[in-house]
Amino acid sequence: MHRTLADDLGRLPELLQSARDFAAREVSGLADRPVAHLGKAPGRDPLPAAGTGAEGALDRFAERWAPGFSGSAGPRYLGFVTGGSTPAALTGDWLTSTYDQNVSGGGDSFAAALEHETVGWLRELFGLGEEHSGAFVSGATVSNTVGLAIAREWLGERLGVSVSREGLGALGRVDVLSGSPHSSVTKALSALGVGRDGLRQVPVLSGNREAVDVERLAEALESLEGRPAIVVANAGTVNTVDFDDLRAVAALKDRYDFWLHVDAAFGGFAALSPAYAHLVDGLDTADSVCVDLHKWLNVPYDAAVQFTRRRDLQVRVFHNASPYLGMPTGDPDFLHLTPENSRRLRALPAWFALTAYGRDGHREIVERNVALAGRLGERVAAEGRLRLLAPVRLNVVCFTLAEDPSQERVREFARAVAASGEAFVTPTFYGGTHALRAAFSNWRTSEADTDRVFDVLRRHSGT
Ligand SMILES: *Cc1c(COP(=O)(O)O)cnc(C)c1O
Repeated sequence: MHRTLADDLGRLPELLQSARDFAAREVSGLADRPVAHLGKAPGRDPLPAAGTGAEGALDRFAERWAPGFSGSAGPRYLGFVTGGSTPAALTGDWLTSTYDQNVSGGGDSFAAALEHETVGWLRELFGLGEEHSGAFVSGATVSNTVGLAIAREWLGERLGVSVSREGLGALGRVDVLSGSPHSSVTKALSALGVGRDGLRQVPVLSGNREAVDVERLAEALESLEGRPAIVVANAGTVNTVDFDDLRAVAALKDRYDFWLHVDAAFGGFAALSPAYAHLVDGLDTADSVCVDLHKWLNVPYDAAVQFTRRRDLQVRVFHNASPYLGMPTGDPDFLHLTPENSRRLRALPAWFALTAYGRDGHREIVERNVALAGRLGERVAAEGRLRLLAPVRLNVVCFTLAEDPSQERVREFARAVAASGEAFVTPTFYGGTHALRAAFSNWRTSEADTDRVFDVLRRHSGT
């Protein structure tokens, strides 16, 4: 064994103690850490020949890189939809690396059984039934991709071909209909060979809405003249957190033949609160469902879950069996269900979080975040230099400068806010206007944080 490696092995408990002390300092300073670092990153070092040992590496990291890391896990980082990491989730994540299990299959470890238990808990949390099976993937983009890959196989089944064997050419045209799909849906269609142009955008409801107009969706399906299609329903749009009427969309199945995929990346968490659960009413009717976990479950990157009612088709697409072993039967191992073969035990942080805080604890995070978004929305609406662009339906505030919201001015506004270190919001384009979004999904965010965010927005709104 290399000498430094042998030294590290001999001192492993002390090394982990140093790492723990370092992490504890960083985590306790998280609320005051600048939300973003806009400065220039250090130049690249040459590849170390001899190596410093783990302690030396920690010193180098602390000196060169750590100061430039953002406070994205902290309470006033409201860009994109960004969760943090609860204490239990962080503990679970450390142990994921500690045990370093490969959850491709079962047999030699309880790890796969733990993933199954966790998926079952999540299914219940989001109001899905026994018919939905699920697996962990790295994020909502991959979850959408897996759901749409199963949908593609289903289209083949309807048309009497097997896309997983014969390829997409056997299928001909693929129609994908959606109202306000997330950009990851077009990315998935590109990767799946359907093509970005395969997406047909269906008009949304009038009156500052992003939810699909179900009558127009019915017309679009009618125009396919009986050809089966894929419908992507959206449960929580990124700009205004609008929700398609999932029950009404699903009811169209009585008349038309389609696969219903629901992108509930963060909107799925509405199910945790009796006050908002109606927004995802009908989620259980979906053929496939995407929910992100590194957003509102507040587990570390990268984790999401995908659910489907047609695991048989999922196995056809993703199975990784050698020809002489044949197709997996019974309860297929995870390697036959997701794009990965070797898989990290992503379920462990989620298992820790759900065990530690339960349904009630996670409901509290959701309800507090929604209340804080409402609080910020009210302040923005009352501030003459800002303009609220949509009602705050759940956890996102979509707003802009009241005067001359040109792309340049809005970007400069966002940059000035980030440069203050106090708050982080991200630019968007909504209703023909350059705008900003403040998304609440971090477990730490308080009223005081929200007021600090508003203060810095007001201060820089004259830019
Ligand atoms: C965030 C998000 C995605 C993509 O999620 P990643 O985890 O970044 O891959 C997809 N759909 C919606 C609605 C989202 O909010």
